Amino acid sequence: MKEIFLRKGIELSQRQIENFIEFKNILLFYNEKFNITTITEEKEIYIKHFLDSACAKDYFKQNASVIEIGSGGGFPSIPLKILRRDLNFTLVESTGKKCLFLGEVVKGLKLDNVEILNGRAEDFGKDKKYREKFDHATARAVARLNTLCEYCIPFVKKGGSFIALKGGLEEEIKEAKNAVKILGGSIKKIDKYELLEEGQRTIIEIEKISLTAEKYPRGNGKERKNPL
Ligand code: SAM
Repeated sequence: MKEIFLRKGIELSQRQIENFIEFKNILLFYNEKFNITTITEEKEIYIKHFLDSACAKDYFKQNASVIEIGSGGGFPSIPLKILRRDLNFTLVESTGKKCLFLGEVVKGLKLDNVEILNGRAEDFGKDKKYREKFDHATARAVARLNTLCEYCIPFVKKGGSFIALKGGLEEEIKEAKNAVKILGGSIKKIDKYELLEEGQRTIIEIEKISLTAEKYPRGNGKERKNPL
């Protein structure tokens, strides 16, 4: 594993290696019951889940509060937390059994400052406790970018940013420009990189430049059925 991360210039400490191995073991153990991922070969887990998530590690401010939408098996949040202990995470996941799994990971790896919320992003996004309270939002593989912006941007404070991990996506970015603007965002960076031999990936950083109008997220599935 050490060599795989080194190929992207990420040097792992002994503790980080142990954390990743423990995470992989918990993932494979619970995957039988909870159906968390179709990727079950060790090297593939390291590259397609762990390294892919890790490539976003330098986009987050020091000691930042980060909300992740659609955590699933904890990607990118858990690899990021292993590498960046300073970050404070809130994980939002709508499927109860995946939240139980995430709880086991947090316990098994003794991670502090990781809160798990079982429910939908569009509901928490309307809650004053969470709305416009985070330095960053992040997500991978949850929805197309226009839909994802409506889930994620309402959580971000003015001056903070939404960091989306995506495949190659020219079309999606064009399609999302309207949503970004309406929700108070502005595209700051579009960084493309190669995930070793697995092909191109993109990290998009959307800065929050003004507050999101109260009517967003619209709820009732409108974010997916009728994207902005
Ligand atoms: N982010 C993980 C990854 O990259 O492997 C999981 C991706 S999985 C394809 C999408 C996850 O998002 C699922 O676990 C699903 O339950 C969750 N999800 C989808 N829409 C959601 C919503 N509106 N609010 C909260 N969770 C959601």
